[in-house]
Amino acid sequence: VRDVMTRKVITAKPGDDIKRVATVLLQRGINHLPIVDEKGKLVGIVTSWDLAKALAFKKRTLREIMTQKVVTVQEDEAIDVLAQKMARHNISGVPVIDVENRVVGIVTAEDLSKKLVGRVK
Ligand code: SAM
Repeated sequence: VRDVMTRKVITAKPGDDIKRVATVLLQRGINHLPIVDEKGKLVGIVTSWDLAKALAFKKRTLREIMTQKVVTVQEDEAIDVLAQKMARHNISGVPVIDVENRVVGIVTAEDLSKKLVGRVK
């Protein structure tokens, strides 16, 4: 996983305003936003799918729309294991955590396909 992960990961806090976060996602061109507590520990994840939920159900904070049971990987796990998790759970982004549940990176399907293209060239 450490060979394909993005280390500079943008995160947000559970109480953050949804409109501000949606703007960040658009400006940065990203779709997966890990939600962390004040110690940087993972407490949830939000994607554009959840932002649609916010619009539909008139929610204002990430706490109300985030997915709390997050599928994660650790840096030393094999890419095969990561790919299986993504396929099994039908997700395209997986936060990378350390042994204390702190977010140290993220891997998206986009990251993976770019790396694979780099390999077959
Ligand atoms: N295929 C899309 C994707 O990859 O995100 C849709 C998956 S599912 C319908 C959308 C939900 O998956 C959202 O509520 C989002 O919070 C959740 N989700 C995304 N990444 C996740 C992850 N790593 N662990 C758990 N849930 C996740």
